[in-house]
Amino acid sequence: MRSPEAIFNCANPSTGASPRRYAGAVASWTEVGDRVFVRRYAFYDQNIGVVLGDRSALLVDTRLSHRQADEILTDLRSITHLPVGVVVNTHGHSDHCFGNHRFRPASIWGHERCVTMIEQTGDRQRTGLARLMPDLAEELAEVVLDPPDRTLTDAATVEIEPGGRSVRLSYLGRGHTDNDIVVEVPDADVLFAGDLLENDATPYFGDGFPIDWPATAERLVELATGVVVPGHGSVGDRGFAVRQMTEFRTVAELARLIHDGRLDLDAAILRTPYPADAAREPLERALAQLRGELD
Ligand SMILES: [Zn+2]
Repeated sequence: MRSPEAIFNCANPSTGASPRRYAGAVASWTEVGDRVFVRRYAFYDQNIGVVLGDRSALLVDTRLSHRQADEILTDLRSITHLPVGVVVNTHGHSDHCFGNHRFRPASIWGHERCVTMIEQTGDRQRTGLARLMPDLAEELAEVVLDPPDRTLTDAATVEIEPGGRSVRLSYLGRGHTDNDIVVEVPDADVLFAGDLLENDATPYFGDGFPIDWPATAERLVELATGVVVPGHGSVGDRGFAVRQMTEFRTVAELARLIHDGRLDLDAAILRTPYPADAAREPLERALAQLRGELD
């Protein structure tokens, strides 16, 4: 059973004391590959991606509310006047899909369980967030939950426009959630990893499957030949993906030692790659998975 708090925020590794924010440079689009752009928003330190075709654009993730989605639409005008024809939700957490409705009539792609997650937990995510961030209650109340209408189970090739540039969507296994997908832009060697990778802060494990995550990250590393865009934090490369994979392995290995009675939790916390105050949740979630409680 998940608490509402467990699904409120995929960027914040702790229990939600303060939302993660990026205090760096003023946000602007960065072209990370040929006509592939990333904008790093201060709220949740979140990355939004855009892949331009000839007649329309593809958007990766839609942020937390209609107002935040409208900010994307406004910001897009500085790089293109093409309409957004296709949207991809990397998973069903609020900050990746609550803006969906503002991009219709675009097709919206996601994993089949992303649809399930939005349908089954969307209102609970909304309520939990509004309680934690009362300033956002009004704009969260405006959100029309609008799950993907185009789904995949394992993989799909999606054309931005008929006969035009295409991207590859792949489900690589459970990790940050049970419905994460990655977006490859083969002609630009860019990989959008969603929250399977997060940079500059401890990844969020609250809805995760820490025992499966290392193998999922290994598959991701195989695809990470060029630029790697995490769901949150700085854009990285293959080396960044490998480091995160190694850290996920460490968490899973420590959890197995605890589960087997060879290490206690407090000692294990000090051996994770994460700050001690953020390490308990990954280990407890991994232990819950080892006890079979997440299936
Ligand atoms: Zn997330």
